[in-house]
Amino acid sequence: MESTCKITAAILLILAFVVGIVLASESSSFLPFVYCLAGGFPSFLLFYALGKIFERLDAQDALLVQMHQAPAAPELHEKIPDSEYKPPVVKREPGDWTCPQCGAQNKPTELFCKDCGTYR
Ligand SMILES: [Zn+2]
Repeated sequence: MESTCKITAAILLILAFVVGIVLASESSSFLPFVYCLAGGFPSFLLFYALGKIFERLDAQDALLVQMHQAPAAPELHEKIPDSEYKPPVVKREPGDWTCPQCGAQNKPTELFCKDCGTYR
């Protein structure tokens, strides 16, 4: 959109220039050329400004899209105070064995520690 406006602005300026030269050469006077440029330049500025405005709008849109796609901040887990923390109760069954490496309680059917993988 903004490039279309800038191209239009450039074409208008060139058109004003060419028409001015043609009219000036036909009438053998500089005045038509000056009038054409005087008329063409404001329209060139107008379209150029429009192009700039569209450029700004596009940049803002891109920014908004970026903001929507950005991942949300990770939620922090609530820390449990030490006084309220209770270790999980593990029921000890007959035949259970305690890992010599880490102290984890394992079932009699298991050959390797479920926590650290040490052989029974
Ligand atoms: Zn272990």
